Amino acid sequence: MLTYHIITIGCQMNYADSERLASRLEQNGYKKTADKYGADFLVVNTCGVRQSAENRIYGLIPKIKKENLRSKIILTGCLAERKDVKRRLKDYVDIWLPIGKIQSVFRSINEAENEKIKYNYLEIKPNYESKFSAFLPIGNGCDNFCSYCVVPYARGRETYRSAKAILAEANDLVKKGYKEIILIAQNVNSYKSGKTDFADLLKAINSIKGDFWIRFLTSHPKDMSKKLIKTMADSDKVCKQIYLPVQAGDDKILKAMNRKYTVKHYEQLIKTIRQAMPEISVTTDLIVGFPGETKKQFNNSLNLFKQVKFDMAYISEYSARPGTAAFKLPDDVSRQEKKNRKSRLDKILRQTALINNKKYLGKTVRVLAENQSKAGEWFGKTATGKDIRFLAGQLDLKAGDFVNVKVAGVREFCLAGVLN
Ligand code: SAM
Ligand code: SF4
Repeated sequence: MLTYHIITIGCQMNYADSERLASRLEQNGYKKTADKYGADFLVVNTCGVRQSAENRIYGLIPKIKKENLRSKIILTGCLAERKDVKRRLKDYVDIWLPIGKIQSVFRSINEAENEKIKYNYLEIKPNYESKFSAFLPIGNGCDNFCSYCVVPYARGRETYRSAKAILAEANDLVKKGYKEIILIAQNVNSYKSGKTDFADLLKAINSIKGDFWIRFLTSHPKDMSKKLIKTMADSDKVCKQIYLPVQAGDDKILKAMNRKYTVKHYEQLIKTIRQAMPEISVTTDLIVGFPGETKKQFNNSLNLFKQVKFDMAYISEYSARPGTAAFKLPDDVSRQEKKNRKSRLDKILRQTALINNKKYLGKTVRVLAENQSKAGEWFGKTATGKDIRFLAGQLDLKAGDFVNVKVAGVREFCLAGVLN
């Protein structure tokens, strides 16, 4: 029997795509193997958001081809249609597979490149990696064209699945005993299907009977409506955690990034969200060293971090991406300065995250148990998305169980506690 191995680089969307790809390969009779050097088909699901993610494949793919000449290499994801990447890896990659065409793998893997798209690949029933937590993609692509971002070119325009299809997948997951459904798209909150918007969709999933949590990511500040905030607050299964990338704390930079909101708008949003859900935890993304970012403009990002007091932030050093509008601008903030700016933001993040976590001390929180270390310690997540470690004592616990844990200690990005 022929075997396959999938290597996924990048975001949750890529992981969800790989689960669909795995299901197609299995329906085609291929068997999963953990041995990437021995697989008959090696699929590399690539990411082109930053140069560092792209660079990983330039080492990996030639190495695998040299180790196993027999293996067919399939390249999918962000980089599958980039001409310069195709030129660079032409001697190693056997099949270039744009993500929207993965359903054609069902027919014949060798014809994949020539197949016409028959239906949205997100409708493929996935092989979920986890038995209790599932990514549920509600759409693909992006129409926003932020000036630094490759996603609209790599994934194409926004398309959304019907509410009916999403609800059917959610119902199926709950029936199978899943405890966490994570709705994903580039901008979940611009979801639209007929008259159903994202708030309506959340409400409908929330009304499915069962004991489970709903999370979603990511939300765009320009599309974060009052209706959505109210729906979040009113829906008991919707976790009180929001992932709201800000990208910069300066209005001029936000404009150059084509983000279509101001710092004031963002701060007001956070205020409204916290008023509606005081326990909410807030995660953001921010880019340092965007072309032309002055020290003063960066200081505005520092001030925003001090002001908002994020629980988590993914801070990236600007990486010039071919084909984007910002690629034409001089990448004029030095690497050292980008590193320096990132570490100054990291420092504030650590302080605010710790202050926020101290509020948990002595409180009992509901936790989804995720895995156990060899030494017996359990790891899980709170509804607010905080990592938490705890001991289960004599309790016969399994991954995917909900438990109550009393918080006895906190660090910047982790809580610790005992079962209650
Ligand atoms: N749709 C989301 C949003 O609007 O914020 C983000 C999706 S993007 C794939 C994930 C993150 O990668 C972004 O939030 C941004 O911080 C980072 N990113 C994207 N392009 C980048 C670039 N050229 N350089 C550095 N970071 C980048
Ligand atoms: Fe990229 Fe902007 Fe779309 Fe997010 S909203 S995926 S950053 S273009």
